[in-house]
Amino acid sequence: MSRRFSKFEDTLWHATASAAPKTAPLAGTVTADVCIVGAGYSGLSTALELARQGVSVVVLERKEIGFGGSGRNAGHCTPTFTHYSLPELRRVLGAPWAERLIHRQTRANDKVSEMIARYGIDCEWEQNGYVQGALYPSHLKTLEKRAQEYNSIGARTRMLDRDETRAITGSSRFYGGWLHEEAGGLNALGYARGLGRAVQTEGGCIFTDTEVTGCVRDNGAWVVHTPHGAVRAEKVIYTTGAYTVAGWPKLDQTFRIMRVFVAATQPLSEAAQAVVLPKRTTIQDGRGDIYVYKYNAQNRIVASMFPMGQRGRDPKFTRQVLSDRLKWLHPELREDLRWEFFWYGELDMQRKTIPRLYSLAPGVVAMTGLSGRGVPTGSMIGGILSDWAMGVAEANLDLKIEPLHAQPRYMSIAPQAALRGYRLRDWARAKTQGAPLPPHA
Ligand SMILES: Cc1cc2nc3c(=O)[nH]c(=O)nc-3n(C[C@H](O)[C@H](O)[C@H](O)COP(=O)(O)OP(=O)(O)OC[C@H]3O[C@@H](n4cnc5c(N)ncnc54)[C@H](O)[C@@H]3O)c2cc1C
Repeated sequence: MSRRFSKFEDTLWHATASAAPKTAPLAGTVTADVCIVGAGYSGLSTALELARQGVSVVVLERKEIGFGGSGRNAGHCTPTFTHYSLPELRRVLGAPWAERLIHRQTRANDKVSEMIARYGIDCEWEQNGYVQGALYPSHLKTLEKRAQEYNSIGARTRMLDRDETRAITGSSRFYGGWLHEEAGGLNALGYARGLGRAVQTEGGCIFTDTEVTGCVRDNGAWVVHTPHGAVRAEKVIYTTGAYTVAGWPKLDQTFRIMRVFVAATQPLSEAAQAVVLPKRTTIQDGRGDIYVYKYNAQNRIVASMFPMGQRGRDPKFTRQVLSDRLKWLHPELREDLRWEFFWYGELDMQRKTIPRLYSLAPGVVAMTGLSGRGVPTGSMIGGILSDWAMGVAEANLDLKIEPLHAQPRYMSIAPQAALRGYRLRDWARAKTQGAPLPPHA
């Protein structure tokens, strides 16, 4: 079945990212120790780890580097989990898996910084923190609990009172906030392309415009087929995420798609920058039906939301919602907002949305389920997948290997239904606690 994705060229990152490294389609047969399918953060970080250890590695990508979520995301890099609190994660994953994954995820931004510095990746990386705001008083308790959980395992986070939240965000709407000091933001596609260049620097090969159509066992090796060539490899890793197209039977059933949109304004004036995010911190407005925003290097506000009803479907209405929300949060912002870039992307949602590592056959694995935290997770996951490829025993890996299994049908509607539920809950809590409601809430 062919899948159609929204236009890659519509994204801000496509217009502003540093140039892609030189790559070409695969023609003929090549041999490698490991073949990786998909040139997003997960595939590239894995290839980089392997190439650095002297393993011969080939990456196959059906379009171009960063064509999937890795070139389209909003560019926030916050080393936490979105879906689960840490105690919930411990319940879901159990020992020792939860603690291993928590350690990797909460240290992921060190990994991102290290790779950017080591390979001189030109991707607008700024580590100015991430604030999750509280738009009604009782939300502060939840955030305090989260801060304690994360701080108890060594994460660098802290609670902000109302005044400090205002000083950092420029908004007096918040009752307080939770600051992740080490969080950052980047040019999503620039980062993916930089990782691609780093893979090549370390001796790895990347073939683009090369769609994997199948993978079969032949004479003691795996043969990964593409329209004009093949790769013979001992091990194969699928990192095709939400943008999976064929490649391996039923891999696209390990998740259900949830769409998200991102938009970017014109570059804001200095006066506007003084009142909106004066410290250039990324903000999540704290509602379940999230509104997240930050600056890019050109001082454009880059904001993201989930489509719901008319929002996301009707461009004029959607731009109005984005502007109204920003102006409600920052009433001192006088400038008219023109949302000059607008694009969609897809998330790979699961019933338990955490990275999942599937065994497809002896010597073949796949990883999906990064959902909306793929910048840090996709960057650190290379450490885990490369361990698997290097022969680390299953019991010692930092992700449990599971058999491939499809998501239940209800997952096609569950994330949207949950979003509507969160929205209702936010509305009810704000009302009962006397907190003002943002427009279109
Ligand atoms: C709009 C949007 C906003 C987001 N915002 C954020 C954010 O701000 N912060 C954050 O942390 N996360 C965010 N995310 C999530 C994050 O972008 C993803 O989780 C992450 O990029 C996934 O990386 P990946 O390498 O696993 O997959 P992808 O980047 O999707 O890469 C998979 C690649 O596999 C290729 N492929 C598929 N099938 C084949 C095949 N048969 N043969 C060859 N190649 C194939 C695809 O073309 C694609 O390039 C966002 C996602 C979207 C869509």
